[in-house]
Amino acid sequence: MGLQDIRDRIAAATAEAGRPPGSVDLIAVSKVQPPDRVEAVLDAGHRVFGENRVQEAQERWPPFQARYDGIVLHLIGPLQTNKARAAVEMFDVIQTLDRPKLATTLARLADERGTCPDLFIQVNTGAEPQKAGVLPQDADAFIAEARRLGLPVVGLMCIPPVEEEPSLHFALLGKIAARNGLSGLSMGMSADFETAIRLGATHVRVGSAIFGERAYELT
Ligand SMILES: *Cc1c(COP(=O)(O)O)cnc(C)c1O
Repeated sequence: MGLQDIRDRIAAATAEAGRPPGSVDLIAVSKVQPPDRVEAVLDAGHRVFGENRVQEAQERWPPFQARYDGIVLHLIGPLQTNKARAAVEMFDVIQTLDRPKLATTLARLADERGTCPDLFIQVNTGAEPQKAGVLPQDADAFIAEARRLGLPVVGLMCIPPVEEEPSLHFALLGKIAARNGLSGLSMGMSADFETAIRLGATHVRVGSAIFGERAYELT
């Protein structure tokens, strides 16, 4: 457990997959973690973090940003349209673009601000009713629509169903990305990031394996 262990395992999985060193970015998922654990990871030199909620990020990160240079924040939880402005102000990357209304809102904000976070489109690879993301069969059209709006779409993101073999979902996400000319693949969490790296992940999102178990789970 811990940051160095995860870095070592990422490096090993990357090499084993025959991929170049450094081709997988580690996003340390700090949601709900106590500040002292986050600070320890910052002190160890890590700078890329993922948060699920805009408000939690707004409370947590400005003090750290005043003390540590080069922090990069990814939003990995669902984004309500009425939080979009706060999200583009707070985050460097938004991984959860998943519907036309949010795409339109982000495009309007991008026009107004002259800049936009990098975007991943979330795909609901398991077609789970309770989960966010575009359905796999709607992904090509939605990617095209986001591009037509001028949005900086850099890749796709998925969260496989807990009870299913993740490799099938990672492979599907890779296929959709490849046929749409997208190079970014955000997939793999504490339990399955090595599998995701084997299947082409460029970004893995690891929380509990770095920080320890969360005191409570977000729903
Ligand atoms: C919480 C979360 C993670 C990290 O989960 P762990 O199992 O703690 O590694 C990754 N991605 C998303 C979208 C999450 O919500």
